[in-house]
Amino acid sequence: MSEKHDLHSHSLASDGTLTPTELINRAKENQVSVLALTDHDTTLGIMEAQQAAKKAGINLLPGIEISTTWKNKTLHIIGLNIDPDYSELKLGLEQLQKKRTLRAEKIAEKLAKKNIPGALEAINKAAGKSMITRTHFADFLVSNQYVNSQQQAFDHYLGQGKSAFVSIQWAELETAISWIVNSGGIAILAHPLRYKLTASWIRRLLGAFKDMGGEAIEVVTGRSTEQDIFISAKYARDFDLLGSVGSDFHSPANVWVELGRLGSLPADIVPVWTKINCDHF
Ligand code: AMP
Ligand code: MN
Ligand code: MN
Ligand code: MN
Repeated sequence: MSEKHDLHSHSLASDGTLTPTELINRAKENQVSVLALTDHDTTLGIMEAQQAAKKAGINLLPGIEISTTWKNKTLHIIGLNIDPDYSELKLGLEQLQKKRTLRAEKIAEKLAKKNIPGALEAINKAAGKSMITRTHFADFLVSNQYVNSQQQAFDHYLGQGKSAFVSIQWAELETAISWIVNSGGIAILAHPLRYKLTASWIRRLLGAFKDMGGEAIEVVTGRSTEQDIFISAKYARDFDLLGSVGSDFHSPANVWVELGRLGSLPADIVPVWTKINCDHF
């Protein structure tokens, strides 16, 4: 039987809505045999996920989705098969966590100026130990009926250039790649078509990414059309990068993206998992 890989997913440790255990159980139900947990800037969920995966009999790759800045653009870099205990990575993620805490305060201040008080308190309560993301603010705005959907929350308040947007310098791209690679992992450019970059900028980025030690790009995501896969596969070929496949699942409430529901990688693209020994997890 062929294996089903889903190498990009979120849990309650960042902006997913399922606990790591619930996520693993859903992966099992959906016949995913290799899952990567890739929360935003935190590895907090990995230990629980690993225990649940052992019970469920699926392979769990320890992963991360690191927020980075390259030439003033925010880019997400997936690290697969990282060592969560590697100190350079741990210290780097702690820095990002601090930036997130400060940013959350500033976002709340901007919302307060728009007559939306109390966001920070509500979010800190809801997030607990989770990494605070804009998704938490979006959920706050929806549940208090300031907007009707997460999308509206981003369109009206949280998206780039909107009234509660706070710009932030994340980790340098090269630095984040080195955390991943030095901890034994593989660095992957997440959802390359979601940054609103022109083709020539994507090419510049891929050249730089590869020079910095990046090895793969996501060719198939949970929202990719056939056309998206075609375009991304061409980038993988042109830059001799491995191809990854990941849904970017966050929540069962989003019916458009399901764990393990993915198009297939074109046959000539070398899958990133051929570089990872999945057996010992
Ligand atoms: P952050 O890393 O805290 O800036 O938050 C980014 C997260 O917000 C992404 O990982 C997505 O899960 C979510 N997000 C970004 N844009 C949108 C959008 N337009 N609609 C819904 N969720 C979004
Ligand atoms: Mn997210
Ligand atoms: Mn992302
Ligand atoms: Mn993601």
